[in-house]
Amino acid sequence: MTAPLSSTGDDTAFFGHPNGLSTLFYTEMWERMSYYGMRALLVLYMTLSIQEGGLGITVASATAIYGLYTGAVYFMGLPGGWIADRMIGSQNAIWYGGIIIMCGHLLLAIPHDSTFFIGLIFVVAGTGLLKPNIGALVGQLYPTGDERRDSGYTLYYMGINIGSIIGYLVCGWLQVNVGYHWAFGAAAIGMGAGLIQFRLSLGKLHGHGANPTVKLSSPGMRRTQLALVTALALTAGLTYLIMSGSVAIDPVSLAQYVALLITVVFIGYYAAIYLFTDLTSAEKKSLGALFLVCVASTFFWAGFEQAGSSLNLFGRDYTDRFIGSFEIPPAWFQSANSIFIVLLSPFFAALWINLTKRMINPSYGLKCAVGLIIMASGFIVMFFAAQVAASGLQAAPYWLIATYFLHTVGELCLSPVALSAVSKLSPKRFAGQMMGVFTLTYSIGSVVAGLVAGNFDPENIQQMPNLYLQISMFSIAAGLVIAFCTLGTRHWESALDRANA
Ligand code: GLN
Repeated sequence: MTAPLSSTGDDTAFFGHPNGLSTLFYTEMWERMSYYGMRALLVLYMTLSIQEGGLGITVASATAIYGLYTGAVYFMGLPGGWIADRMIGSQNAIWYGGIIIMCGHLLLAIPHDSTFFIGLIFVVAGTGLLKPNIGALVGQLYPTGDERRDSGYTLYYMGINIGSIIGYLVCGWLQVNVGYHWAFGAAAIGMGAGLIQFRLSLGKLHGHGANPTVKLSSPGMRRTQLALVTALALTAGLTYLIMSGSVAIDPVSLAQYVALLITVVFIGYYAAIYLFTDLTSAEKKSLGALFLVCVASTFFWAGFEQAGSSLNLFGRDYTDRFIGSFEIPPAWFQSANSIFIVLLSPFFAALWINLTKRMINPSYGLKCAVGLIIMASGFIVMFFAAQVAASGLQAAPYWLIATYFLHTVGELCLSPVALSAVSKLSPKRFAGQMMGVFTLTYSIGSVVAGLVAGNFDPENIQQMPNLYLQISMFSIAAGLVIAFCTLGTRHWESALDRANA
């Protein structure tokens, strides 16, 4: 049974938005502080030699593990969303997800190899529960037709990025000045702050997300609980076997299989909805147009998600990080993305409105292709930066900052546009599932990003400029092909509007 909800249409307590948004804004801010603060250090920690306090893993394996980790975080959003909808409700999913995340960071704070991978599994599981549900809850704060919804999401996106900036700065500083495990501990404290804040301000949500939307029947609940316990036991068993050395795993080939598997799941799910449901021809055209957006999104994240891996290593090893006697922590470079998001978001919001006023309405597919091409041009900047490094000099910090600037402009052209495309172009009765399927593009992109970054060979720095040039050319070519295809599909994007007119 769903709790009675009070209307929030006249609630303007948080910058003109429902007061419940402040609860979600600050909770997600702290969660992202912990997520990005820790994530920024992962590859650095794994590749650091054992003598220096790291794990001494090769770059190829460390970036593959990193790709698997970030890919898994997005993949787990699918079951996480389902568990909230059908079993425990969003509020509980956020609360328990946050607790699991905090435990994960605490495990990482223990300076021991065996707790490291268990900590990562905890963060993956907890984020899968928390992240999709807190995002969905934002939308539920607004009554149908409330025009503040889009700007509410913009505000929420600001919270995400403010949290990320705090995470990069605090954890990055602690890593350089005190040590990795203190930085991981700070991530746990950040998540703890988010949890306390969430608990204390829960009332502002007025019952939204307190209950599952369509609760499972009792037998269904029992079956699912059994399936969950089995999945947990299998994960625990497999982790034990891997850690005790009984089962050997090559992270690079595992990442290749996983990328392939998620791609098959993505195409299979998409094809099943397209072919085996009762779609009208307008809905089919609409889904056809959305497919291009998904392809662009996959290529985009495969490049963009190198921020934490190959670009991070470039920042640590080949960038001049000294301003006088002050050493810039490597993680700080990644905060450029979040800082640019906060600075550029208002400009982009105005840009889309102005383009619409001038009757210039690029299709979703075209905007995403342009976003992909702009992101790819960031790697041309890296081509030049890598040439400086290959010549034996340290590259100036502005190379990385310029790359992140282009990556952020690309992100703002593609990421919010793609989300809006999913909600507009999916048949209403499949809206939730399509959002889940779309999230798989982040997951595939992240795993592929890890594999691509594995070619970043510190022993063979001469081939680095070429690596970045190849990534750039490949992504630009993909962007151009997608842009060309949108000429054919742009009319499909309005097929649903025409059918409903
Ligand atoms: N930086 C954003 C977040 O953490 C978006 C990441 C993404 O969409 N892949 O929510």
